[in-house]
Amino acid sequence: MPEPTPFFIVFLTLWGLCIGSFLNVCIHRLPLKQSVVHPGSRCPACGYALTWRDNIPLVSYALLGGRCRSCRAPISLRYPFVEAITAAIFLWHAMVFGVTPLLAVRLAFACALLVLFAIDLDHQILPDRITLPGIVIGFACSLALPPGPLMSALGILAGGGILWAIAEGWYRLRKVDAMGFGDVKMLAMVGAFLGLRLVLLTFVMATMIGGVVGVVLIASRRANMATAVPFGTMLAVAALVASLYGEPLLAWYLSRF
Ligand SMILES: [Zn+2]
Repeated sequence: MPEPTPFFIVFLTLWGLCIGSFLNVCIHRLPLKQSVVHPGSRCPACGYALTWRDNIPLVSYALLGGRCRSCRAPISLRYPFVEAITAAIFLWHAMVFGVTPLLAVRLAFACALLVLFAIDLDHQILPDRITLPGIVIGFACSLALPPGPLMSALGILAGGGILWAIAEGWYRLRKVDAMGFGDVKMLAMVGAFLGLRLVLLTFVMATMIGGVVGVVLIASRRANMATAVPFGTMLAVAALVASLYGEPLLAWYLSRF
């Protein structure tokens, strides 16, 4: 596996910051069903159209002191945070995958997960505009790269199938929707990228994370049993872990028997 050179690391960090800036636009606009390329960004308070000087990842936020250049309205700390976390995720992937074709695929997958995480947290929706192309792209990449077309196809069926069966069963039992079909399509996307084994691991880990988060929230009285933390956020975290460390995790687990 080709190790990343110092030049590649610098390149990937800058690229990650710029992509993170674009992911901010996706997180903001996709739930509003707006275009992510047009028009350019504006200050939500005064309508000031941002120029390139206002759009440099991290730097602009720091130079402007976290305020709009025109009206001085505060800008959410989330913007530089998403940029920094994207760059960190990019570097982390390079350490795990090296400079390989699979690195590019898993970076695209991680970007989709990050956007789904943030939108699900804000709006409790998982837009089809990410999950449906994600299924197609994940399968197309698997024609030449791991997990291979068969495992990818089985991953789509298992990922979509598990949640669809749970949602359907819960609906028949309780007559309430346990989850939106956004989760079903998201887990099918995870299956397309990661294959059968890792989509099952993702589901198990997401359920475990959900249990821990639920207990913490209930213990701190921030939620009762009825307030659900959106499952898509936990699927996103679990899928990222599975993408990076799923195979060693499974090997470790299975070696104990
Ligand atoms: Zn403004």
